[in-house]
Amino acid sequence: MPQLEDSFLHKGRRRAMCARLAERGITDPAVLAAMEKVPRHWFVDPTVEEHAYDDQALPIGCAQTISQPSTVAFQTQLLELKRGMKVLEIGTGSGYQTAVLCTLGARVFTIERQKALFDSTKQLLYDLHYHARCFLGDGYKGLTEVDYAPFDRVIITCGAPYVPTAVMEQLVPGGIMVIPVGNNNQEMLRIVKPCNDSEEPLVETYGNCRFVPMLSDINFRQEP
Ligand code: SAH
Repeated sequence: MPQLEDSFLHKGRRRAMCARLAERGITDPAVLAAMEKVPRHWFVDPTVEEHAYDDQALPIGCAQTISQPSTVAFQTQLLELKRGMKVLEIGTGSGYQTAVLCTLGARVFTIERQKALFDSTKQLLYDLHYHARCFLGDGYKGLTEVDYAPFDRVIITCGAPYVPTAVMEQLVPGGIMVIPVGNNNQEMLRIVKPCNDSEEPLVETYGNCRFVPMLSDINFRQEP
């Protein structure tokens, strides 16, 4: 279990973090309010807790990182979420982004490929009463189990070399996918799926970013 204390100091740091996010162009009040609510220090390793409200990515074990707050805010804002929407997240990691999406009232389905992270984060989200559905699997496939798809929104929180076709298919017509695409460095894309098959998706670009890689199915199978 994490250190569950949420002191005035933590809250104050969180407020300051959100003020900085607002200064840096996060304009969606719901996103700012959600990030002011979720105790990010519960999602980081206790050894780096004092940096939980700095705008930096931090290690979360298994050679992975929790995305920096400005990235979480930016990706979440691009999603244009409304309460009750079904959201597929690929790359559960620490569960922080998941918790922010839950706080915004989304119905969250999240996929992680590393068993150790999946196990610990699923338990943490449960303990903290964030009602996300957690899946161990390969995000390139999305969620193939019956009845989960389609999703109103998809957020990918690892660097994808290309837009996974299966995931695109699981998006509703008119739905939005926010995805960093590229190998070592990525470009943040927002893709709006067309309402009919004869149209091309609308692709908007939002600058460079750097995520841990979205690893393939082959790597997934090679792991114990
Ligand atoms: N949203 C997370 C970010 C974690 S880093 C957070 O807030 O902490 C990205 C995560 O994507 C890592 O945990 C990594 O294991 C996972 N990942 C990488 N490739 C994946 C794939 N193909 N399917 C599912 N998860 C994947």
